[in-house]
Amino acid sequence: MEPRPFSWSVSRHDTFDSCRRKYYYSYYGSLEDPEIARLKKLSALPLWTGSVVHETIEAFLKERDALPSEAEQKAIAEAAVHERMKGDWRDSEQASLRFRLFEHEYEQEVSADDKKIAVSTVRRCLRAFFRSQTLKDAFAAGRANWLSLEDLIGFELEGVPVFLRMDLAYRATNGQVVIVDWKTGRSEGRFNAVQLAGYALYAAAQKWADAPEQIETELAYLAVPRFVRRRVDADMLAAARAFVVRSAGKMRGLLVDAERNLARIDDFARIDNPRRCRRCNFRRLCFPRFDGLQGRGDPGPGPMGAPSDDSGLLRPQAPRALVAVESRA
Ligand code: SF4
Repeated sequence: MEPRPFSWSVSRHDTFDSCRRKYYYSYYGSLEDPEIARLKKLSALPLWTGSVVHETIEAFLKERDALPSEAEQKAIAEAAVHERMKGDWRDSEQASLRFRLFEHEYEQEVSADDKKIAVSTVRRCLRAFFRSQTLKDAFAAGRANWLSLEDLIGFELEGVPVFLRMDLAYRATNGQVVIVDWKTGRSEGRFNAVQLAGYALYAAAQKWADAPEQIETELAYLAVPRFVRRRVDADMLAAARAFVVRSAGKMRGLLVDAERNLARIDDFARIDNPRRCRRCNFRRLCFPRFDGLQGRGDPGPGPMGAPSDDSGLLRPQAPRALVAVESRA
């Protein structure tokens, strides 16, 4: 396979920070091995509810220019639950390649309460979206002033290509550029600040504003609901630039050939963190002995099953050859 260039994204940083081996599987191994690629795509319940909300909002904003009636809003939310979620669930139970839940893959019981929480999160988030001042402001600005809607944006920072997905950006009626990120979780993500600063860097690079202070970022926690708006400044942009460059440097430092973006699995260590490993899509590769036993009383990865290259039993089944990669998050 032809080497593909390295690039940086927030999710890539998050994965690298959480486990080097997971990072290898996600961005290198998955390009070589269809089974690793399949595991990478598994979606856990909270991630799934987030996707349903994001995609419903995206479809709505791409089609509509005004707030629909309350009855229509309800119909949109119910379609997300009864058509989209039920379809996904059915496909996942049948081990479809299109959509598969982590919980089904690893035979973890999903209680009736867990299902209710997923459905009510989607309903609550969509209700908050329709009632939000953000949506009113975006419609007031008019589609002609929307700068981005669920676009995968890319720009270069000191030679490093950076990719981000921007939920919504618009120029408000007061001239301010507002960049919105819909959140379906209740609390701050670990790298929210970096993500927002990344958006601001892109906005500045695109010359959407003459000065950083004319850009505002908004974290829209729809499940709460809570809307946190912050004004950008030059210090925030400088900190974001330094963060991305430092993070990309660490990632490239583990490559066996940084120029060609070549990685070798043995250079990406596993972590010793049973709690995190239990929730990892690649658990089967690191702990084949415990595959499928979770939720039935087996301890799974833990002191017994902690990564050990000496045992020979826990060695990963992924290709050990050098892998050339593409690097989009
Ligand atoms: S199972 Fe654990 S060690 Fe293996 S990739 Fe996942 S987080 Fe890393």
